[in-house]
Amino acid sequence: MKYISTRSATSPVTAREAVLNGLAPDGGLYLPETWPTLSSIELQSLKGRSFAAIAGRILAPFFLDEDLSDAELAKILDDCFGPTSSIFDTPQITPLVQIADHQYLLELFHGPTLAFKDIPLQFLARLIGHYTQNRATNLTFIGATSGDTGSAAIHACAHLKNARTFILHPAGKISEIQRRQMTTHVSSRVYNIALDGTFDDCQALVKTLLNDHDFTKQFNLIPVNSINWGRIAMQTVYYFAAALAFNETHSPPTFVVPTGNFGNVFAGYVARSMGLPMGQLVVASNHNDILYRFFKTGEMAIDRVVPSCSPSMDIQVSSNFERFLFDLVGRDSRAIAHLMEKFSNHGNFRVTAADHIKACAIFGTGRASDEQTIAMIKRVYNETKMVIDPHTAVGVHVAQDYMKNRGPSHEPIISLACAHPAKFPDTIKKAIGFAVPLPDPLKHMMQATERVTPIRNDLNIVKNYISGIVGA
Ligand SMILES: *Cc1c(COP(=O)(O)O)cnc(C)c1O
Repeated sequence: MKYISTRSATSPVTAREAVLNGLAPDGGLYLPETWPTLSSIELQSLKGRSFAAIAGRILAPFFLDEDLSDAELAKILDDCFGPTSSIFDTPQITPLVQIADHQYLLELFHGPTLAFKDIPLQFLARLIGHYTQNRATNLTFIGATSGDTGSAAIHACAHLKNARTFILHPAGKISEIQRRQMTTHVSSRVYNIALDGTFDDCQALVKTLLNDHDFTKQFNLIPVNSINWGRIAMQTVYYFAAALAFNETHSPPTFVVPTGNFGNVFAGYVARSMGLPMGQLVVASNHNDILYRFFKTGEMAIDRVVPSCSPSMDIQVSSNFERFLFDLVGRDSRAIAHLMEKFSNHGNFRVTAADHIKACAIFGTGRASDEQTIAMIKRVYNETKMVIDPHTAVGVHVAQDYMKNRGPSHEPIISLACAHPAKFPDTIKKAIGFAVPLPDPLKHMMQATERVTPIRNDLNIVKNYISGIVGA
């Protein structure tokens, strides 16, 4: 498979280049030239197979080429998800749990840092390790985090030799546990930057650095955010795994996805484009509802970020939306470059009425206030004795609204359970009166020393900080 940019018709690149560059030289995002498809017979043949085996089949068309053989891909997947790997705490990797009639949770938080990002990042780090194994140069991983990418990236990347990891988080805007998961990591090659700004500022800064081609080349900068195609590709796998858990007498499931950067829900769109039968993909937002407003009106209009109790979704600029938009406008890269420029200069753009209707046929939407989120954590606990995290609760709230609006139906609704409730003790306590304890391997970090550097939201200061360390 070759990869093209959403913003210009330059010559296609290999999977290796797409993964190592992260961002295309024109500032666009990489997408496969075409969507590979699976026939329904092939899909059925995956029923009952392990997560690693399903991943091998789904990822093959995206990655197999002269840089990665079938056996090498299988080895990476086995190291991450196979029976002898102990990275995830359940052999199913992403268990599907029923919480009510026709309602399910897809648990994506069984990895070492307790959020869904462990699944793509464990894979991505090994894939990058493979792609660069014969390179003598050092690698510099860089990422912006709204809370969970940072620790998942640090955990996955820290074991690569010759690699340093720089993570920018918005100072004071992530939970204490999320922060400690990053700042107490033992590796001295991990650098935490507490940026005086929002997640959107962190992400814009990372994108600007990646667009600085001299800087990127000099320090071998590789992004670990979901702008990296390697992450999105891996996330499509659990949509397949979840849908395959139902038998043919069921209607295809609808997925409700708590959304920030539009990466997770875009992976669902990729699965759909590959031929996985599904109902709608429902984008669930907290009060930072730019995507909700887009699907309601056809206009993307930026607003202020207001902190919520689901901080990993406190985002206004959803990078991966550009990937969907590219398909929506008929893969017209000039049109995308124009829309993105308008968005960056004026903070808004609008799609045509026809494109808006097309988008709403694929995606549903809903939102939950903090009050509704907390009420849902309490309600699910009272009804099932299960504790869900605030992001998951946003999704379950939206799922219940969605079911009410569509009327009687047997179509299963799967809400993606994005994080473990132990990551957000304050909100959980507010909802049900007690916090969920951290799993044992994470307990030590509440006493460990933190390493973090507060930095002003200033490109040159961040650049100097990185080059001071990497160039030394
Ligand atoms: C990252 C994250 C999200 C948002 O996912 P996107 O791919 O950015 O849309 C939602 N919930 C949790 C817990 C997360 O960590």
